[in-house]
Amino acid sequence: MGKACGKTKFSQSAFNHLRDLGIDIDAERQPLVFDGGFVGRDNGQKGKVKDASQSYAGHRSEAGPRKGQRARTRPGPARQAESLRSVAHETAFGDQFRILAHHYEALAFEDPNGLWVAVKTRPLGRGGPQVHLLVALPFEETISPRTWAFEAIGNQAELFPLKHTNFPDASVCAFTKESGAWEPKDGLTALLDHYSLWIIKSWHRTHLDLWPGPQVGACAYYRRQEFKPDEWCGCESGKRYFACHQYKDIQVADQIGRRQFRELFSSNYEDRAAPQSVMLAARSRWKILPDMAAVFILRHAWGESRMPLS
Ligand SMILES: [Zn+2]
Repeated sequence: MGKACGKTKFSQSAFNHLRDLGIDIDAERQPLVFDGGFVGRDNGQKGKVKDASQSYAGHRSEAGPRKGQRARTRPGPARQAESLRSVAHETAFGDQFRILAHHYEALAFEDPNGLWVAVKTRPLGRGGPQVHLLVALPFEETISPRTWAFEAIGNQAELFPLKHTNFPDASVCAFTKESGAWEPKDGLTALLDHYSLWIIKSWHRTHLDLWPGPQVGACAYYRRQEFKPDEWCGCESGKRYFACHQYKDIQVADQIGRRQFRELFSSNYEDRAAPQSVMLAARSRWKILPDMAAVFILRHAWGESRMPLS
């Protein structure tokens, strides 16, 4: 019997696993990410979640082409073991994409300014739903990748809840740049593993009312809107929100809080939404992809360089 949790259906064992992962992550016991995006518990090891990319390499199956998959030569998105069509894309992304495609189901689409990658992940395994990610990888290495997470694609396309997504484009915020949790040299697979962990945290918040583990909250208005009292405060005090900044945050007048927010994020809290072109891509099941430059210009116009939550 499946247990219905809102729109997302988990099996009872998947739900229990989500709860156990939440306890681990909240205590900074780092989970492991396996092929296909399954997030598993690691009972033996205590470490910071931000080091996730270091520990799971040994738990993966040996990289190599899966049975029944051959390179395709006709036009269409690139899949496993296939070269990207343009020399520029192949040089910049070919190796990383092929490694990714050994660990996740992934498609690559070439854009004049980079590579779109559509990835499926199943963080709770077969007892939980499949999640669709659209990843934008610009050629320009100084610009961070940007990713949108969908509970469903097609006619019923639905973006994940907005908690811990970026302003104003609602892309996934799985870690801060400053934390060093992920850098381009860690590779695309490690990046997707971080997103699989983010999905676990987002589901935990939706279904168990708590964002587990460390989080960042740059200003009073943001914390007030997004933080539950029992979540970690986000100021590195090592305290829960109710025992730390919540009281001070409540005292900040709305108008002042909103102004501080605008100064930090160059947008209003309410303005956050995925670009229409990204929603269209999900509805079309990646048949109509956004113009990458247009999607990235959106955030530059809002002052990305000053954003602490990139
Ligand atoms: Zn605090």
